[in-house]
Amino acid sequence: MLRSVRPINLQHKHIVAGMAPTSLYSLQLYEQSGFTNEAGAAIHVVPNAVGLLQRLGVHVEEKGAVLLEQIRALKQSGELLSTTDNVKAAGRWQNKWFLTHRAHLHKHLKEVATSADGKGRPVQVHTSSKIVNTDPHTGTVVLQDGTQVHGDLIVGADGVRSATRAAVTEKEFLPFKSNHSAMRFLITKDSALADPVTRDWATPNGSMDMWYGPNDLKIVLYPCVNNTLFNFVCIHPAALSGTSDDYNESGSKDKLLEIYRDFEPRVLHLLDKADANTLKVYPLFDMDTLPIFVNDRLALIGDAAHPFTPHLAQGGAMAIEDAVSLAITLPLGTTPDEVPERLELYNQARYGRATTVQNNSRLVGTGELKCTFPPFLEHSMSGANHRL
Ligand SMILES: Cc1cc2nc3c(=O)[nH]c(=O)nc-3n(C[C@H](O)[C@H](O)[C@H](O)COP(=O)(O)OP(=O)(O)OC[C@H]3O[C@@H](n4cnc5c(N)ncnc54)[C@H](O)[C@@H]3O)c2cc1C
Repeated sequence: MLRSVRPINLQHKHIVAGMAPTSLYSLQLYEQSGFTNEAGAAIHVVPNAVGLLQRLGVHVEEKGAVLLEQIRALKQSGELLSTTDNVKAAGRWQNKWFLTHRAHLHKHLKEVATSADGKGRPVQVHTSSKIVNTDPHTGTVVLQDGTQVHGDLIVGADGVRSATRAAVTEKEFLPFKSNHSAMRFLITKDSALADPVTRDWATPNGSMDMWYGPNDLKIVLYPCVNNTLFNFVCIHPAALSGTSDDYNESGSKDKLLEIYRDFEPRVLHLLDKADANTLKVYPLFDMDTLPIFVNDRLALIGDAAHPFTPHLAQGGAMAIEDAVSLAITLPLGTTPDEVPERLELYNQARYGRATTVQNNSRLVGTGELKCTFPPFLEHSMSGANHRL
């Protein structure tokens, strides 16, 4: 059933879908980039996303994703606070919890969306096609080069700096930088195993480690690509790294080592293995909650609808839930006239859940909610498969 309206919006890109009453619809996806520069970073594919992806034929574990087996929490001094057996804990959820390289997940989603297999037509991808204007009533988008495209449905899946969002509400909603930024990079596991200071620590497979320091300093480390790479997310007060608004800014390794200088030697040895050429620093964006995700023939999904801080590893998962929910509300045979009322249903299905998880993530970031992995995640991790 999930394939009935091929949920190509899982690709998370901008889509104009023109559906004819005879179901001879076509799905057009407009992406501003050339798709050549995928982020060199990993992502949690949490249980609520895993189940949905599997039903779509996306099995991340077949493309190098690593099963999250344990979670270690430590103080910056190296004192171990807790070790959670995640395989045991994950028994409470319907699906497993994986860690994957973003580029692999992206490629896999694109393959499914553009494959000739399955019901419906494959999506047609138009890269280097930036959308600058959207009319939700006529179903029109305008590209930067002036081209106008018409469809019966527009899905705004254009991320935190969405251009389509402005067509949903009268009031303008703009993202703003939160108090935190994150430095991100990958190192090889081999390099950690070759270092006598980090060898023992780096040996177990499938381990996510979180070091907590004072003053909002946190380092999260987890493996991906068949346990051959470690992904680092180093969260810190934004003022310490002085990020611009660029979402893909190069970071300074000297700054990284300075910010975390009081952390234990194992951590410092690991950070020192970062490649200065690929180290990125990201401002973490937030935004006031939108009152609604739809307007007439336009539906927002993912960060366009609800930008996510990373503190619960749920932003991508919510985008996937949105996309599947939208596909269910628009089965094959839906007529153009029915689109606006179907989108209202999509809004009803998604608004409460997505904004609740978004707010929980925000509160974990400000320290107003304690994220005791994994029990706190119970609400986020389950539910989706029952609801959709
Ligand atoms: C440090 C960090 C760690 C994170 N970790 C996790 C995690 O472990 N698990 C998780 O689930 N989530 C995580 N997230 C959140 C997750 O990355 C986002 O929520 C998710 O990428 C949102 O997907 P999206 O498709 O809505 O937007 P995006 O991934 O931002 O995709 C939007 C796309 O739209 C394109 N676009 C933008 N504007 C236009 C335009 N005008 N015209 C055409 N195309 C356009 C962009 O080029 C881009 O390709 C993390 C976020 C951060 C910052």
